Amino acid sequence: MEILIGTTAENKQIVLKNYIHGSPLETDLELKHGNQIKLEAPKGSNCVLMKNYYLSCDPYMRGRMQDFQRSYVPPFSPGSAIEGFGVSKVVDSDDPNFKRGDFVAGITNWEEYTLIHKTHQLRKIQKDDEIPISYHVGLLGMPGFTAYAGFYEVCEPKKGDYVYVSAASGAVGQLVGQLARLHGCYVVGSAGTSQKVELLKNRLGFNEAFNYKDEIDLEAALARYFPQGIDIYFDNVGGAMLDAALGNMRAHGRVAICGMVSQKSRTDTQTFRNMFAVISKRITIKGFLQSDFIDLYPRFLEDVTSYYKQGKIVYLEDIIDGLENAPAAFVRLFSGKNVGKQVIRLASE
Ligand code: NAP
Repeated sequence: MEILIGTTAENKQIVLKNYIHGSPLETDLELKHGNQIKLEAPKGSNCVLMKNYYLSCDPYMRGRMQDFQRSYVPPFSPGSAIEGFGVSKVVDSDDPNFKRGDFVAGITNWEEYTLIHKTHQLRKIQKDDEIPISYHVGLLGMPGFTAYAGFYEVCEPKKGDYVYVSAASGAVGQLVGQLARLHGCYVVGSAGTSQKVELLKNRLGFNEAFNYKDEIDLEAALARYFPQGIDIYFDNVGGAMLDAALGNMRAHGRVAICGMVSQKSRTDTQTFRNMFAVISKRITIKGFLQSDFIDLYPRFLEDVTSYYKQGKIVYLEDIIDGLENAPAAFVRLFSGKNVGKQVIRLASE
């Protein structure tokens, strides 16, 4: 439908109702009707008005749903549209770097239209028939970049390394595993359903995969998959899995602490049984934020686009349609229902 610049429209939004404790529930977020927006980028504002096409569900957003600082990003404001990564189309622009019809990726709000003031954080997408634009919140967006920077810059991989990835079929994990295979490593992934295990082995090219929920003893399970030990553990989950991996590391192993999705809703403290291995095996444990490596983004885009176009990697997305279904889509991350990168589609090209 043609958008008439200067007219006013209803702008439905997803808002956080109140700060939460524990696991996020669908009912913690709600669809708010009635908000009006003027469809224009006011002259002299340097703003861009965008129509949002894809919104990204990311585990770090759980940290923004609480009012105390355990996260590395500030909390959301209850009652206002929450923000996150998205792919959007420029409807009107007062910034000479963007024009009507451009597709952009960057931080937006969970609503139909967003007026962006901080236009410097938008990245113009070069449209490409071989690459779905939704990949700019997944494979070519923040999660893909996390996998790339985390694997190459933090894990210090070598050909022949034994690599273990948790939450391996997710937005980050699936790319870590594939990059490790391309690097000549032996890769095992874990995930929480038999369907994901099949995908890891048969679509994503992992050497082996297992369902961690079927295992009573995680440390024994890892010993079965890595009889010779683990050189690199790319940790997406933390908690008991991190402890089990520490108990299976080889001498001089590297552990990249990417995320702790199993701990996001916990307030108690976790006890580690295998920390002594850090000394006896001289293990390096390093936490990182993808933003630490932002200068590598152009190289990442070039490399990963090229791998994808050459058929060296694939990418799994889990797309849910409609802003009204955004709360349900978001909580799937914490029950493990998402199969691949969880995305919400508001509009199609
Ligand atoms: P994702 O893997 O696509 O989705 C989350 C997955 O985590 C779920 O599908 C589920 O898969 C697993 N999970 C959920 N609750 C769990 C629990 N209690 N125990 C074990 N596994 C659980 O998410 P993603 O976007 O790729 O993010 C993966 C991790 O990377 C997250 O921890 C995230 O916070 C982190 N991250 C860090 C950075 C950074 O800069 N450091 C950037 C992006 C993401 P299963 O079926 O495997 O259970």
